[in-house]
Amino acid sequence: MLTELLRRVSLFRLLRAIDVDLARKIRDECCPHCGGPLRRASYRRKPRGGPETIPEEYLMRESLCCGREGCRKRTLPPSCLFMGRRVYWGCVIVVVLALRQQRPDGASAGKLQRMFAIPRKTLVRWFAYFRDEFPGSAKWQRLRGRVPPSVDNRRLPGSLLECFLEKAVSAQGALVDCLRFLA
Ligand SMILES: [Zn+2]
Repeated sequence: MLTELLRRVSLFRLLRAIDVDLARKIRDECCPHCGGPLRRASYRRKPRGGPETIPEEYLMRESLCCGREGCRKRTLPPSCLFMGRRVYWGCVIVVVLALRQQRPDGASAGKLQRMFAIPRKTLVRWFAYFRDEFPGSAKWQRLRGRVPPSVDNRRLPGSLLECFLEKAVSAQGALVDCLRFLA
């Protein structure tokens, strides 16, 4: 069910709309470095793992740039579509890890690699990040208090997605809420 979601352009349309909205809110603020005005400076990315029919505009990473001469620093708004510099869509990363972490029987690593054409090394890196770095990160420390204690720090992001799946009316809604929360 979750893997089917990743084949739907509608999921990406929704996430894109949220990204645009998140960027708009940040744009209303000032440059965090000098207080100057922020301008749009989106750039194109080539994320992997999604449907091939995704419209070009969804490939844009919303980004802002200070308009003041001498500063011109970039401000990166939060994103639901992209997870840092990783080359796969954020939703693909979350779903793949969640399927592997599913209890009692997670999908095999081999199956997930084949399903989304993910190199083994990449998959291992994602796991290492969510096991070793993410639980101790300032970001997760901030978010941790907003989720029930049942969310297992040793099984992220799968355990978090499960928590959203229990509350949401649809799997797509749960995935979107989870990505928005992580953004
Ligand atoms: Zn500035």
